[in-house]
Amino acid sequence: PFSDFLGFELLLEEQDRELLGRVRAFMTREVEPIINDHWTRASFPHEILPGMAELGIAGLTYDGPGCPGRGALVNGLVAMEMSRVDPSIGTFMGVHGGLAMGSIMLCGSDEQRERWLPPMARMELIGAFGLTEPDVGSAISQGLATSARRDGDAWILNGAKKWIGNATFADLVVIWARDEDDGQVKGFVVEQGTEGMVCTKQEDKIALRVVQNAEIALTDVRVPDENRLQRSESFRSTADVLRVTRMDVAWQAAGCARGAFEHALRYTKQREQFGRPIASFQMVQDLLVKMLANVTASTAMNARASQLQDAGRLRDEHASLCKAHSTVRMRETVGWAREVLGGNGILLEHHVGRFVADAEAIYSYEGTREINTLIVGRAITGESAFV
Ligand code: FAD
Repeated sequence: PFSDFLGFELLLEEQDRELLGRVRAFMTREVEPIINDHWTRASFPHEILPGMAELGIAGLTYDGPGCPGRGALVNGLVAMEMSRVDPSIGTFMGVHGGLAMGSIMLCGSDEQRERWLPPMARMELIGAFGLTEPDVGSAISQGLATSARRDGDAWILNGAKKWIGNATFADLVVIWARDEDDGQVKGFVVEQGTEGMVCTKQEDKIALRVVQNAEIALTDVRVPDENRLQRSESFRSTADVLRVTRMDVAWQAAGCARGAFEHALRYTKQREQFGRPIASFQMVQDLLVKMLANVTASTAMNARASQLQDAGRLRDEHASLCKAHSTVRMRETVGWAREVLGGNGILLEHHVGRFVADAEAIYSYEGTREINTLIVGRAITGESAFV
C-alpha cells in the first residue's frame, strides 16, 4: 500500500506477507463497515470472532503449544494493520493474544501452557490481564495491593482491579496479586464465574469505546494452586510480559496514526475548496507529508526493535522508547488528520474522529509517556528518577 512508503512489508517472508494480506482483507471487509456503530453503542462485535480465529493470529509470536510461533516483525505489522482499521480491535487482540497469552507463555509451567494456550490460540477461550488497580496505575510495582493468601492447596484473592480489557466476557482473567507471605507479586488464572470475582463494565469512555474494560472486585476468591502461574516469582515476571506487549502497543500506535493519515489523504483528494482539491494546497500537503514522516519513522523504529526481539536482544528501554515515541507521534498525526478534514473531522462517518479519540487511551496505557520516558532515562543516565 502507498502508506508503506519505505516498503517495510518487503522485509517479510512470502508466507508472512500473505498473512498480512489476509488480515488487511478481513479488517477492511468485516470490521470497517460495522465499527462506528459498535463504537457509538460501546459494544463489542462478538460476531467477528470466528473469522478472526481463522486468521490464526492470536499469540502470533509465541512458540508455545498450539501457537503460531511467527516472527516479531510480522506480529508488529499485523498489530499495525488491525489498528490501522480500528484501534479497539487492535487493543482487544493485544490484550488477548499479547498480555493474557503472554502471561501464560512466559510465566506458566509446561502443563499450564498445554492446558490454556491451544484453546486461546484458537480463540475458543478469550483472556484478560488484570494488573492495574483503582488506586494504583503507574506505581503498580510498588503499590499493588490485591492480596493472595495460601490456604491448603488453594489461594484466596482479595482486592480490586480497574481498566481490565475484555474482562466483561473473557473466559480467563490473569490476576496479579501480592503473596501475603513473601510479599512477591504472582499471577493467577481466574476463570470467569469463579465465586467472589465480579467484573463490572466501565461505562462512558470517550476512547476505545469498543474495548470492554471492567472494574473487578475480588472478595475471597478461591483459586487452586494449579492456576497459579508457576514461573511467576516476582513483579519481574510482569515486566517480562510487558516488554513484549509494549512493542505491540508501539505498533498499534503506528497503525492508529497510519489509518488516520490514509483517511486524511483520501479526503483531501476528494474535497474541493476554491475550485480545487484541498490536496493541491501547499499547507495541506505540508501536513500530509509530516503525517507520513511520523508514520514512517515510527514504523522504522518499531521494525528494528522487533528484529532485536527476534534476536533475543530486546531490552525494556528499547520497548519503552518505541512506545513513548510512537504514541507521541500518533497523537500529533491524528490531530493533523482531523485538521485537514475540517468540520468533517469530528464526524464518526469519516473515521478520523474515532482515531483521535482512541489515540488518547493508547497514549496512556501500558505505561504512560512519562513512565516509559523514565525507563529510557534510567537506562541512558544510570540514574533512576522513579521515586
Ligand atoms: P496514574 O498512574 O495515576 O498517572 C497519572 C499521571 O501521572 C500520568 O500522566 C503519569 O504519567 C503521571 N505520573 C505518574 N507517576 C509519575 C512519575 N513518577 N513521574 C512523572 N509522571 C508520573 N491495565 C491492566 O492491567 N489491564 C488492562 O487490560 C488495561 N487496559 C487499559 C485500557 C484502557 C483504555 C486504559 C485507559 C487503561 C488500561 N489499563 C489496563 C491501565 C493502564 O495501564 C493505566 O491507565 C496506566 O498504567 C496509567 O495508570 P493510571 O491511569 O492510574 O495513571
